[in-house]
Amino acid sequence: MITETTRFAEDVSSLLTTLGVDAKTYTGGTLAVTSPVTGDIIAKVVETSTADATKAIDAAHKAFLDWRVIPAPKRGELVRLFGEELRAHKAELGKLVSIEVGKVTSEGLGEVQEMIDICDFAVGLSRQLYGLTIATERSSHRMMETWQPLGVVGIISAFNFPVAVWAWNAALALVCGDSIVWKPSEKSPLTGLASHALFERALKRYVDQGYDAPAGLSALIIGAREIGEVLVDHEKVALISATGSTAMGRAVGPKLAARFARSILELGGNNAAIVSPTADLDLTLRGVAFSAMGTAGQRCTTLRRLFVHDSVYDTLVPRLKKAYASVKIGNPMEDGVLVGPLIDKLAFDGFEKALNEAKAAGGVVTGGERVTVSGDNSYYVRPAIVEMARHEGPVLRETFAPILYILRYSDVKDAIAMQNDVGAGLSSSIFTNDIREAELFMSAAGSDCGIANVNIGTSGAEIGGAFGGEKETGGGRESGSDAWRAYMRRTTNTINFGSSLPLAQGVVFDV
Ligand code: NAD
Repeated sequence: MITETTRFAEDVSSLLTTLGVDAKTYTGGTLAVTSPVTGDIIAKVVETSTADATKAIDAAHKAFLDWRVIPAPKRGELVRLFGEELRAHKAELGKLVSIEVGKVTSEGLGEVQEMIDICDFAVGLSRQLYGLTIATERSSHRMMETWQPLGVVGIISAFNFPVAVWAWNAALALVCGDSIVWKPSEKSPLTGLASHALFERALKRYVDQGYDAPAGLSALIIGAREIGEVLVDHEKVALISATGSTAMGRAVGPKLAARFARSILELGGNNAAIVSPTADLDLTLRGVAFSAMGTAGQRCTTLRRLFVHDSVYDTLVPRLKKAYASVKIGNPMEDGVLVGPLIDKLAFDGFEKALNEAKAAGGVVTGGERVTVSGDNSYYVRPAIVEMARHEGPVLRETFAPILYILRYSDVKDAIAMQNDVGAGLSSSIFTNDIREAELFMSAAGSDCGIANVNIGTSGAEIGGAFGGEKETGGGRESGSDAWRAYMRRTTNTINFGSSLPLAQGVVFDV
């Protein structure tokens, strides 16, 4: 039980002060911020007007024109300094993540660690924005491609990764020579203000060291969907990286396509794992438990469907139920707690609705009760397991809460087919010690997701790989590997260092 609920408001203002946020930005505003931990209002953030959002975007475009010509390794120095600020303030920012969105302490800190990791990655990348040299068919010619800065990058982020997703985009965009404008979720503006304040500190140190950084290089705009729309509709925004529900992607994607802007869409997931007859069940149990219950089921990569082979079903499922019954639910900042609150009542209503639908379809539910931790306005639940006879109804869609649907299978090809038979295509896993099954799962005939893991769960990706999913997950990729290319424009250059002008394809055009 949390007894001193009012303590958070004080904690929040002391954390925000340490992180460099001006109290004027989060007191007396129109956007009430509720901590899911207690259900109390902890701040009233000032929202950005449409006019001010437009001004910020115009300023970011002006800044881009200067930033794009600064050598990439010098741009990388700014990101390096930002990484230093994050390292120095990891504890405070991590705690604010826990208070604002209810992540357990290690996950709140882990989110800031992801920001640090992507800064390190981007600093290295700032010396590796490589293009190709390509064989040309013409003599005394050289052909190559170069990667150039793109423009203003608009970042729209979701509540459940309130700061890491911005950092994934911001760090890459900045070294790629772009300016950035960020609209965080209206459910998590405080961590947005704090992260941006740390970035501004890094910017000040950068300028103090004698580097040039144009005014307006990075902006934060606060508000709900309407402010996001200003970003989406502004013709000077070259790329929108939008993370959120598939419904949001359906609204944003066509608008961007209509004005030929680029998009990175990182949308909903309905992730699955297959447990084969040869699976190491101890390892599987841990992998499934973390993926399905971690972050109270509020990760885009949360495990939502589990296909268990007939031969291991009656061994694994009772063990899983035991783990579900014993997992500690409560104040996410308390030692030993693994499952914190749902973000709000809407999430709780969605959880109940899905469980009722599953029951009506013959599903057998274990867990799923509301747990009292801190009064009526916070929403804690015991994660639910639902044994389903058929792959149908609520199993086919993402409910952003801790529900794990479990189904039996007897042929791995059927399990893979069921896994792929949903709209989303983000993350997937197989637990097996059979190399044929593992390879089949990762092959062209296997998982159709952007992430296909073997012997680990569906969640908890590292920043080194490209992150994203297919189908209704939107097709975007961000973070590691060559995801940086989406933040740059590619030019193909052909250079003639001879004295004749041979035409490609042998075309003759003598004048
Ligand atoms: P949401 O779709 O409600 O909101 C996400 C963001 O989009 C918010 O900032 C919101 O204000 C903004 N937004 C909504 N409609 C908009 C519009 N028409 N124009 C411009 N901006 C708009 O999502 P949420 O509830 O904050 O987050 C949960 C969802 O996000 C889940 O579906 C989850 O799977 C998904 N998610 C996906 C990834 C990924 O990488 N694929 C990562 C995190 C979360």
